[in-house]
Amino acid sequence: MAWYYVENNESVGPVQESDLHALSQQGKITAQTMVCRQGDTAWVPFAQAFAPGSAAVAVADPAGAPRVSHSCVMCQKSVTADDAVQLSGNWVCATCKPLYLQKLKEGATISGVRRYAGFWIRVGAKIIDSLILMMVTIPFQFIATALIPGANDPKAIGAVIALAVVTNGFNILSNLAYQVFFLGKYAATPGKMVCKIKVIRSNGAAVTYGRATGRYFAEILSGLTLGIGYLMVAFDEEKRGLHDRICDTRVIYKD
Ligand SMILES: [Zn+2]
Repeated sequence: MAWYYVENNESVGPVQESDLHALSQQGKITAQTMVCRQGDTAWVPFAQAFAPGSAAVAVADPAGAPRVSHSCVMCQKSVTADDAVQLSGNWVCATCKPLYLQKLKEGATISGVRRYAGFWIRVGAKIIDSLILMMVTIPFQFIATALIPGANDPKAIGAVIALAVVTNGFNILSNLAYQVFFLGKYAATPGKMVCKIKVIRSNGAAVTYGRATGRYFAEILSGLTLGIGYLMVAFDEEKRGLHDRICDTRVIYKD
């Protein structure tokens, strides 16, 4: 039976049980040193792990427990990088791996398994969002043109510039408000809702208003790179655009 132990807030191992006891005799492992049996996720003090008759009691997130646990997308069992593999962004335990691969091959929808939204569906969502925003920005342009004296006169440079500033400013602000409100509140803009996709954090958490704001500006960067930031979606295993990489977001299908 192999074990891990914590030294200087780092997990060391796997070491054999005999080595663990040898380390304890050398004083490198004390009664309080947190240890974890390979394949387990519970860290317990060394003394407790080997106390006769006492079952190892799970310690919820002990200080310094360095191993991150994930949950298997198939059976929800808690697993670590040692006893699970990451397949297209999902953690799968060794037991479930053959079944998972089989289901993927059959193209079956596995509940809880992320399906990342690719380039074209996201282009579709973007087009719908643009059309919706135009229902606000185009009327605004008409109103602004009517209200700014000389805005239609090419010789009135000042008025033409004023119109450009006002309309572009309105476009940016309405787009920002649209993205932040819908992503922060519903995890999806109306265009994404229609396409049945949504934005989440890499760990599955919801996107906050703050992160949605950051993502809006990061997306401008994706556009400024001649669109390469958007094109990255097509070539990334988790279908991340540049803005998704910057903001730790993923676009997935709602299941
Ligand atoms: Zn599993």
